[in-house]
Amino acid sequence: MFQKIRLRLTFLCGGITTLITLAMTLGYLYIAEKNLVANRLLSCQNDIFTIAANLEQQSAISFTWLSKLEAGSGYDISITDNGIPFWFNERIPDDSRLAMTENAWKYYRQNKDALAVHKISYRSSYRNFTYDGKSMGNSPNYCFVISLDTNGSLLEMLLLLPFSAFAGQIAGQRMSFLAMVFAALLAIWLFAWFFTGRLLTPIAESRRKQNQFIAAASHELRTPLAVILSCAESCTNRTMDTIKSEALRMKRLLDDLLTLSSRDLEQLHISKSPVYLDTLLLNACESFEAMARDRRVGLSACLPEDAVPPCDCDRERICQVLAILLHNALSYTPEGGCISLSLSLAPKYFILSCADSGSGIPDEEKEKIFERFYRVEKSRSSKEHFGLGLSIAHEIISAHGGRIAVRDTAGGGSTFVAELPR
Ligand code: ADP
Repeated sequence: MFQKIRLRLTFLCGGITTLITLAMTLGYLYIAEKNLVANRLLSCQNDIFTIAANLEQQSAISFTWLSKLEAGSGYDISITDNGIPFWFNERIPDDSRLAMTENAWKYYRQNKDALAVHKISYRSSYRNFTYDGKSMGNSPNYCFVISLDTNGSLLEMLLLLPFSAFAGQIAGQRMSFLAMVFAALLAIWLFAWFFTGRLLTPIAESRRKQNQFIAAASHELRTPLAVILSCAESCTNRTMDTIKSEALRMKRLLDDLLTLSSRDLEQLHISKSPVYLDTLLLNACESFEAMARDRRVGLSACLPEDAVPPCDCDRERICQVLAILLHNALSYTPEGGCISLSLSLAPKYFILSCADSGSGIPDEEKEKIFERFYRVEKSRSSKEHFGLGLSIAHEIISAHGGRIAVRDTAGGGSTFVAELPR
């Protein structure tokens, strides 16, 4: 049980921290990537001023200078003289980059007049634009066209900075940051697991001691109670009857407490053997027949027509579950009602169910009745019931790897369904 709580707390702490960390990481990456692009574009402007100054100073453009510039800057550079290609791209490495440059020129020619002109000197200026070059995977490409008036002819130089120039850097940044975040999250999860373990240790220890105390006290109380019972057995007057019934009540309570504490201490002993559930069910019906007759309640058993294979379970414990269900059904079904105990087979389960036409259980109570000492309000006054029966049934069925639940009986009442693995 504590492992379950520990797991839940770890998931809660780890999950919330993971969400917060991931949200912050995404936010950080978004801002960092925006800044990276902005800084690069800023340095482009500086480049443009330097290149324009160089162009103005050179009487003839040096190809060596151009090649060096292109190799060192990451731009794809191309030049036209009065619109005629002058320096273009044997060196632009592949077809897609070449197409990109051609598209950029096309875009520039079409939109030149609409683009803002930034003056550099009295002879030179530049225009800049972005186009997302659909053929190049929708990434924005940053373009700058420097225009230089050289004694009546117009020299235009396109500097194209493809998005791929950032993509590598951005991907690298993402990978290293995500690796760091992943390592941090791993550490957080490990810490959460360790921390919740430390947190729960004293609680688990005190729960264990409490259970040990209940187990020891129940054991100690049983012996004197057995003596009282056997003495009361031999006496006949009314006072002795009262002593006997009270002592029996106490014995039942002690037995119940013992079963639950041994389950908590993981000492609930389940000794499995092949059991024919149909026979078990008929036996259970038989032992409650007299009680049902006294209370004028009909009791019937319903079994599958075909032979039922044996179920690997603890005979005594399953008998105990059937007794709890039948006892409850008889307690909460008024005179004239009926109870039906049935067995059916599902591919993976044996299904035992106990349906009654009694008072029924409100939907909001259906989960709670399996808790210890929980009783629905109207049954509180009963001296026979401690609110432990169903929690014991639940523990026994869970110890077998099965499950138990309650639903409404058609026409009124409750049906308890216990499933045991085949
Ligand atoms: P109790 O000893 O009080 O019967 P249980 O754990 O067996 O304790 O049941 C818990 C509560 O569930 C009961 O107090 C009762 O209110 C409700 N309950 C159990 N079985 C039935 C039933 N067949 N019909 C109606 N209510 C039921």
